[in-house]
Amino acid sequence: MTEDLLTIPQSFCQECRLCCRFLEPDRQTPFASRPDLGSILPENFQGAPNPELIPVRIEEFDLWQCALLEESSWSCRSWPKHPLDCRIYPLLIILHEGSPWLGIDTNCPFSIHLSQETLHEKAETIRHNEWPQLSAQARTKLITHLEKESAEGVLPLLPLET
Ligand code: SF4
Ligand code: SF4
Repeated sequence: MTEDLLTIPQSFCQECRLCCRFLEPDRQTPFASRPDLGSILPENFQGAPNPELIPVRIEEFDLWQCALLEESSWSCRSWPKHPLDCRIYPLLIILHEGSPWLGIDTNCPFSIHLSQETLHEKAETIRHNEWPQLSAQARTKLITHLEKESAEGVLPLLPLET
């Protein structure tokens, strides 16, 4: 199992929690939270338990928030068994030029503190150890989800398939 990047101090994330709140339920949300996808994902993509999203209103914005986010401490109730996409963030699985890639999400305020060397090393690990565990059916379904997503602010880093 790929561990968290974990060079991100917990206190930094507790001040932010941007990546546990979402604009839409099927946009850059954990794949395991999506009804038609979660059940066909391999174990490494699943959380224990799997996350569900709940609607919240924050200031004047209607958002979706992961139900596993513990609001009193701003920590994850599923940690360290949270889904793969949560564990690898701010690396993100995106569609780039029609193929699945790993990218770095510059919307994460900590992304500028992560070295290119660290990101490439982690991306290689994900490509070799995690991505191949997807069945052909799950891969196809996941790609149909990626086709609907915007990768605004995400810089492509490494193709997942060569
Ligand atoms: S967006 Fe980045 S800094 Fe903010 S909670 Fe997520 S990983 Fe931490
Ligand atoms: S499972 Fe944990 S890390 Fe992932 S979105 Fe939910 S609260 Fe955040």
